This record gives sequence, structure tokens and C-alpha cells, in this order.
Amino acid sequence: MRLHWHRRDLRLADNRGLADAPDRPVGLFVFDTAVLDHAGAPRVTFLLDALGELRAAYRERGSELLVKQGDPATVVPDVAGDLGAEFVSWNRDYSGLARERDERVDGALEDVDATPQKFHDAVCHEPGSITTNAGEPYSVFTYFGRKWSDREKDDPRQIPDMAPADDLGVDPGPIPTLSELGFDAAEAEVPTAGTGAARRLLESFLDDDVYRYEELRDYPTEECTSRLSVHLKFGTIGIREVDKRVREALKSASGERRESVAEFRSQLAWREFYTHVLYFNPEVVAANYKSYENPIEWDDDEDLLAAWKRGETGYPIVDAGMRQLRAEAFMHNRVRMIVASFLTKDLLIDWRRGYEHFRELLVDHDTANDNGGWQWAASTGTDSQPYFRIFNPMTQGERYDPDGEYIKEYVPELEGVDPDVIHSWHELTPTERANAAPEYPEPVVDHSERREQALSMFERARGDSD
Ligand code: FAD
Repeated sequence: MRLHWHRRDLRLADNRGLADAPDRPVGLFVFDTAVLDHAGAPRVTFLLDALGELRAAYRERGSELLVKQGDPATVVPDVAGDLGAEFVSWNRDYSGLARERDERVDGALEDVDATPQKFHDAVCHEPGSITTNAGEPYSVFTYFGRKWSDREKDDPRQIPDMAPADDLGVDPGPIPTLSELGFDAAEAEVPTAGTGAARRLLESFLDDDVYRYEELRDYPTEECTSRLSVHLKFGTIGIREVDKRVREALKSASGERRESVAEFRSQLAWREFYTHVLYFNPEVVAANYKSYENPIEWDDDEDLLAAWKRGETGYPIVDAGMRQLRAEAFMHNRVRMIVASFLTKDLLIDWRRGYEHFRELLVDHDTANDNGGWQWAASTGTDSQPYFRIFNPMTQGERYDPDGEYIKEYVPELEGVDPDVIHSWHELTPTERANAAPEYPEPVVDHSERREQALSMFERARGDSD
């Protein structure tokens, strides 16, 4: 018998480790306190729902998903020993912390004579498999993306036969509740978990939105992106399954429709690019990827940080994004870029403070992508926004939400206010603002002034000025 230790692969279908290792598996999930310490209520809610679905799927096949709590380096060998499992399989994770944990589990399995079997599953192409001609990992996306797209992909894996649950002789354990894990109910509405939900999203996206993706992906009211991020993060759908369906759409499309599908597919490549960056540079979770001559002198003003978190900066598109995050545990990609730029280049606050907030509230928080997104916006990452390109939050709002629909959805104080007034909020006099929307805050900073300060901050960091 084999034990398959699920982590961010909460599904049976298209699961490399589950399908490719020897022997029939039973499943195991371990609530690891070290991981829970960094989690937020929306993510844990999704995780619990996904585990419920996964356990049901095992039971439908006469097998079982065991659910335990504790340090995996103790729990995994204990369960393997109790079951007399000859093999323990898992799919690799790529962050530094996860890799250290896996090494400890690997070592501890020797004591119970179980052989570890490890697989690359979360990505189509594992770290180290797409490199420069000199064999180095890429630090810019373009060539990586090209190679990723051209390279042949594995087919999705079938669900294997499972080990029967009748004579396991081990208590499967209850799936704990959110409060048993020490979390209050999530404020946000959390998306439906499970492979069925992920497939429905994929199919409905491929029916229509994928062909409008290139044109409309930057407009938050269009809602034409896939919303697959949370499923790719928790592995409730396999990446080979997603990519295969996307390739089929690519083959059958032509012209602009084809380009649009290709644009979507390149986002899947970005996801793998950031995974590779994290794998080869595990320190980026807490440190700038790009080194500057001098430390960047962030000005971590706590009041400004609190206003940003509450969505009360007086910059409408920023506030709408921050409130969407709280209400839905999600934010549209363009708006993520705007609020991250605003935090780092207008409020001059260290990207790590924003990353921590996203990590707590985003249901799709993924270390590699979240870190990559933040460091891109802060001009500290791989292939990032140059430090002198600073988003103007007002023109961004005007361009990507011209009618102010997205803004009004999340900022009710601006309900009924003319879009021109919304997009020129920073230029109005206090009296004009009080007349237009008395409940909505004044801008907490002046964008033009802060832009100059940001430029000086980066120039000092670069050693260009004193
Ligand atoms: P779609 O546009 O449908 O894209 C499909 C998939 O491609 C996504 O589900 C995701 O897996 C991947 N993807 C898309 N854009 C990116 C990108 N820029 N970088 C890497 N992968 C991408 N994405 C996360 O999955 N988790 C995060 O924690 C996260 N944090 C971010 C923080 C910041 C500051 C920024 C700027 C971006 C962040 N992103 C993150 C990337 C992106 O915003 C989300 O993946 C996307 O908004 C999710 O919506 P979707 O599934 O509808 O995306």
C-alpha cells in the first residue's frame, strides 16, 4: 500500500504523484501549524471545503482521505508506519520553507522503512527545465515564455485505482472546523472549492471569455478573466488538464481569437516563471530580488498604511480595489498592479507590508505569484516595472474604469457621482469634494509630490544622488 500526502494538489484527477507512484494509494492531509500561522480565514475556508470534496471523492472510490494535525515530519511517518505503507508519495512544493519541511519528512521516513516518491505536478515544466542557453535560470520573462509555450506538455493523468478503506485499521480523523483551527469566519465570500467548480469555471471561460481576453482583461468590470487562480493555487484542478483544454482552443481559433487564447496561455507561463524564480531565489519572500547600491529608504507611515488597507485613500480606483479584496478575498489583476504601485510609489511603503496584507486576505495567495507581483510593482523584482515608471492612479482609473462602474460597486460613497468628478477627485477643491460626495475621503497624499519623492528615493537607492 502507498500513502499519498496531499498538500497543494487537492484533487484526484490529473495528479502526477497520485497517478505515477507505485502501489494503490490512500490519501493523507496534514494541518501543519507552521503553515497555518501564515494563512488567513478566506484561504483556510477554501481549503476546508476542498478537503471535504476530496474526502468525498476518495470515499466514492471505496478509499479514504486521512486528515491529521501536527508537524508533518512526525505525522507522515507515524501514519505510514501505522498503515505499513511501503511508499509515501507527494508532489513537490517550491518555496524554501516547504522544501525544508519535505527534507525533514524524507529523512524521518527512513525510520519506518517507507520509500519517498516525489513528483513535479504543480507546473508543466519544473524549475531547472527551462533555462538560458548557458543553463542559467531566466531572470526576464520573454524568452522563458517563448520556450515554455513551444515545449511539449505531458497529458493529464488518469485517476488511479485506490487502496480500499475497509481494513486500514487507522482512524481517518475529522476535518476540523475553521474555529477549531483558530480562525474567525471569513469576512469575504469565498469561492466554491473542488474540481467540479474549477472545471465549470474553465469550461465557461473557454466558451467565450478567452476570445475577448486580450482586449478586455485589463478592465475590471468586464470580468472576462478565468478566476482559476485559487484552483491553481490549491491544485483543485491540474495544470496539464487546463493547458490541454487551452491548447485545443488555440488550435481551433485563428486571427485575433487565436492571439487572445495565446495571451491567456502566456499568463500560465508567467505563473511558472515566478515559481522558477522562487525556487532559485527562496530569499525573495523577504528580500528584494534586485539589488540596489543602497537600501531603499521606505517611509512606513502606519496611518497611511491603515488608510490603504481600509480603502480610504481618497484615490477611488485604489479604494475600490482594497475594498474588493476585503469583500471577495480577490482583486482584479490590473487593480492589484495599481494598488501595489500606489502603496510603494505614492505612499512610499515597503512592498513587504502590502504583501503581508495580501497574504492574509487573498484567497488565491500564492507565494511565488504574490511575491512576483509585488516586486514587479515595487521595481525590486525580476523583469519589473522600471523605478521611474510610476502609475498615475487617477489616469489608471479613468482608462480602465471610464464610467466608474467598478469604483461605484465597491465605494458606495461615490454612488451617483459623475465619472468625470470621480476621475478628477484629486484636482477638486475641498468644497467641491464636500458637495459631490461628503462621505468620501480627501486624497491622503498629493500624487505629483509623492511621485517626485519616490523618484528621489530610488535615485538615492541607486546611488545616483545624495
Ligand atoms: P487570469 O487572467 O484568468 O489568468 C489565468 C491564470 O494565470 C491565473 O489564475 C494565474 O494562475 C496565472 N496568472 C495570471 N496573471 C499572472 C501574473 N501576473 N503572475 C503570475 N501568474 C499569473 N496571482 C496568484 O495566483 N496569487 C497571488 O497571490 C497573486 N498576487 C498578486 C499580487 C500582485 C501585487 C499582483 C500585481 C499580481 C498578483 N497575482 C497573483 C497575479 C494575478 O493578479 C492573478 O493571478 C489574477 O488576477 C487571478 O485572476 P484570474 O485567475 O482570473 O487570472
